[in-house]
Amino acid sequence: MDDRKRRYDFKALQIYACRLQDRMGLRDWVVCVVPDEPDDGSTARVLCVYGQRVAFIAFADHYFDLPPERQRAVLVHELVHPHLDVCARLALPKFGDDGEPFLLTFEHGVDAVAQVIAPFMPLPARPFRPRRRPRG
Ligand SMILES: [Zn+2]
Repeated sequence: MDDRKRRYDFKALQIYACRLQDRMGLRDWVVCVVPDEPDDGSTARVLCVYGQRVAFIAFADHYFDLPPERQRAVLVHELVHPHLDVCARLALPKFGDDGEPFLLTFEHGVDAVAQVIAPFMPLPARPFRPRRRPRG
């Protein structure tokens, strides 16, 4: 975890997330960029805390290799989730053990909306890249 904090500028990413959060109608949410890595192989993952308007977003290492337009699109995708989190929570139990097709369809919907919104959001001032390791 500390190695990731040294390797990536999570503070700059947090500032950028706050900028987009404001523009995406999430001013009443607390959005926290966390140095954890998603446990499912995804580029990024959001965890919304039910009833508290708190969202934690984790980014995989490969996020930091993406071009800035994709970095923006991924973050916008994660910031669409808080708007729809309650819908997903209400719907998912209706599918019982067969919720996977719903979740996949839901993800595609979130991503379609994110792809429409992302170009209207500012790009990061600089792409988020791994920090160079000191020589020696
Ligand atoms: Zn998603």
